[in-house]
Amino acid sequence: MRKRRGAKICPYCGEPMNGSKKGRKSPTKDHINPRALGGGPTIIVCFECNNAKGNMPLDEWLDFLMENRPTRIPHVMREFRAIAHRLHVPKEGRLREVLRAAQQIEKELSP
Ligand SMILES: [Zn+2]
Repeated sequence: MRKRRGAKICPYCGEPMNGSKKGRKSPTKDHINPRALGGGPTIIVCFECNNAKGNMPLDEWLDFLMENRPTRIPHVMREFRAIAHRLHVPKEGRLREVLRAAQQIEKELSP
C-alpha cells in the first residue's frame, strides 16, 4: 500500500490534512470511542473534525455525519472496518454494535 506523506484525507470531512502540527487541518489522533467514555481505537483525523467530535459518543457522531455529510459515511465505514479487522474486535462489543448500526445506515443510503 502506497501512501504519500502529508496527503492523507481526513475520513470525517474528506479534506486533505496538512503535514504541520498546527492549524485546523493538522492531523490528530481521534479516539473513536471518546476517552471520556473509556477510550478505544484511534483514527487519524483533522484537528477541526476531532474538535467538533469532542466527547460525543460514536453513535451520536455518526448521526451528525449522516445529517451533515452523508457522502462521508462510506469512507468512515471503510476506515472503521479496517480498524475493527486489524484489532480483531470481538463479535459482541460496543464498537462492533455501532459498526453494525452504521453499516445498516450505509446500506439504506446506497442506491
Ligand atoms: Zn476533517
